[in-house]
Amino acid sequence: MRPPVTDIAAPAAPQMKPWIEAIHAYVPGKSKAADGRRLVKLSANENPLGTSPLALAARAEAVPPALYPDPDSTALREALGALHGIDPARIICGTGSGELLTIAASAFAGPGDDVLYVRYGFSLYEIAARRCGAQPVEAPDRDYGTDVDALLAAVTERTRVVFIANPNNPTGTFLTRAELARLHAGLPSQVLLVIDQAYAEYVPPEADDGGIALAQAHANVLATRTFSKAYGLAGERVGWGTGAPAIIAALNRIRGPFNIGNGAQAVALAAVADQDFVERTRAHNNAERARFAARIEALGNHGLRAVPSEANFVLVLFEGALSASTALDGLAQRGYAVRHLPGQGLPQALRITIGTAEQMAEIAAALGEMAEAAR
Ligand SMILES: *Cc1c(COP(=O)(O)O)cnc(C)c1O
Repeated sequence: MRPPVTDIAAPAAPQMKPWIEAIHAYVPGKSKAADGRRLVKLSANENPLGTSPLALAARAEAVPPALYPDPDSTALREALGALHGIDPARIICGTGSGELLTIAASAFAGPGDDVLYVRYGFSLYEIAARRCGAQPVEAPDRDYGTDVDALLAAVTERTRVVFIANPNNPTGTFLTRAELARLHAGLPSQVLLVIDQAYAEYVPPEADDGGIALAQAHANVLATRTFSKAYGLAGERVGWGTGAPAIIAALNRIRGPFNIGNGAQAVALAAVADQDFVERTRAHNNAERARFAARIEALGNHGLRAVPSEANFVLVLFEGALSASTALDGLAQRGYAVRHLPGQGLPQALRITIGTAEQMAEIAAALGEMAEAAR
């Protein structure tokens, strides 16, 4: 029999592992002002066009909630395979692509290993690294963009996983196919390259970064995508990834069983079939993004600058008299929630999701007024 625990020095409550204690929980975008007022939410990169009506209609045909879902999301993987020309056996679905990013780190890194990404990378990468006890390592950026040479220079014998978001969040910057291929070619073959393509649908098809092709051709690449952004299904929590069979098999061991619910499988399947909606989303976004970036550039004399973006948001830099935090408050007064990320080393910037034409015009005009008043 085990003796009773009487050790006086024993802690009074369960103790978090030190690597869990080092995690700052993910901070989601706000939708309310400090005084509780509802704001137009341009802080979480959600789709201003909503969701495909065909996808919404498919909810009615979902497997009833009393029954467990298909544990392997078979129909959805087949549809994604057909759309992208991938063997469905090389596809895994996740509870958002966030689940896949997290388990990719856990499957291939642990205590004593490094997980590498670029400064101003997606905030989930640090959480994914720490959660499995690995050391997060940041490589320097190049004017907010990914610097392939700096990333490669930061690789050591401890590096196990390299994360790259392309386009990147929160900067919106994009690595071309040639640069991405150069990054992959420079990595040792035992390092897993995770290409997080959460915003890939916003990139014109002819400018595709080749991430999915790399994941088909090499044993050390995982490409991930999500239904949360261009498909307008953030609330359903569906993402997917593709890579070599051994990588997919490793992730399948540790993903949540039955990780995609019945409704989410049905809705995502119908959304894949409505590529018109994705194209309308891209057309709207890219036109409004160009217009908004031009309006910001026109405020250059006030120290405002738009980081070049291929995503559904623009990172606006405030390098003059108007500060990002003053602009954040001013936009909230006018009814808009945008993203300020001082915790990620970006106190001088706001990440603004592309909304409707009216919203973007109003925001640009408000920033112009505030910049004028701050002189
Ligand atoms: C939004 C986003 C994701 C997707 O998150 P989900 O879990 O699929 O909702 C992944 N990576 C980046 C860089 C993102 O911005």
